[in-house]
Amino acid sequence: MNNGAPKTNLVGLTKPSIETFFEGLGAKPFHGRNVLKWIHKHGVTDFDAMTDVPKALRERLRGCAEIVLPRIALTQPAGDGTTKWVLELRDGQHVETVHIPDGERSTICVSSQVGCALDCSFCSTAQQGFNRNLGVDEIIGQVWLATRELGQTPTNVVMMGMGEPLANFDNVVPAMELMQEDLAYMISKSRVTISTSGVVPALQRLREVSDVSLAVSLHAPDNALRDQLVPINRKYPLEVLIPACKAFIKDDKRRKVTWEYVMLDGVNDSIAHAKALIRLLEGVPSKVNLIPFNPFPNTRYRRSPPERVEAFRQRLKRAGIISITRKTRGDDIDAACGQLVGKVRDRSRRQLRRIPVVMENRQ
Ligand code: SAH
Repeated sequence: MNNGAPKTNLVGLTKPSIETFFEGLGAKPFHGRNVLKWIHKHGVTDFDAMTDVPKALRERLRGCAEIVLPRIALTQPAGDGTTKWVLELRDGQHVETVHIPDGERSTICVSSQVGCALDCSFCSTAQQGFNRNLGVDEIIGQVWLATRELGQTPTNVVMMGMGEPLANFDNVVPAMELMQEDLAYMISKSRVTISTSGVVPALQRLREVSDVSLAVSLHAPDNALRDQLVPINRKYPLEVLIPACKAFIKDDKRRKVTWEYVMLDGVNDSIAHAKALIRLLEGVPSKVNLIPFNPFPNTRYRRSPPERVEAFRQRLKRAGIISITRKTRGDDIDAACGQLVGKVRDRSRRQLRRIPVVMENRQ
């Protein structure tokens, strides 16, 4: 029927695109909206179960469309309630999704790329290099799978998994629309967070189309150090990045930029660094997340001692900057970006299937 053209994976279509797709089939757009609801709200992947879609239309859909999701290759629960899923994509690549429950809040950390090109010196995903962008279907598919696995929609999504979301703008933006879509996951814009290392032109574009929350991987208060830790700083230095982040929240008093700051022993964690950070963020509505470094094999960095993290936090607090120290979650399952995929990739596919669901890293 479709002359051998590849089938369209409906999982990756936003409301306007599924309406257009159905119109292209000569069907009414509301059938498209219904199918979107079946897929994302009800988790249905079989056209025949979509009882309000006319039988003839279901028949046509089977010829030109499909509903395909990533497959869970490995589930690793940690003692603290965190769960990490390694997902296998159609081409055999792997990415990670992490679920972090915290009281009423249930956050999933979603990947945007297979690997990453940005080469941040403290990040284990960087060691894998860049492989490819995820499609809209593969990004929203992580929310689909988490919703089904958890038996409920997560309350929050953070685009903080593998990859740089703003380097995959065209797929990340529609996926974030689907997260917020009333017919799908209905997560409010303030509970969808994009985390970026600072791809400034893409951030400026995003400002025009989306009001999601913004987290920025700062990690250093001056260009010399940030050039070392987050090399994209050489292209978009702090004097360009900070105003772009400030502009992103559009003077909305309810919004703040979240700055992520990984605490690296002896590198960026002194009181002098805290003072420089206070000066840098002057006039920017800010919240600082101090992140304990998650070590991985062959890294040259160490986690800052807790007293130093606390002294840093207190210094920011005295200057009126809200700052929290992120709890280390899922330490025993390598919840830091990319670590588990790194391990899985080192094994053969045959062995992969035999990896038991255990806490591998527990000493
Ligand atoms: N590329 C995006 C999102 C992915 S990284 C970004 O840079 O924001 C998500 C967060 O985890 C970033 O703040 C990143 O700097 C941090 N991170 C990466 N490796 C880490 C590690 N080993 N320990 C702690 N945090 C890490």
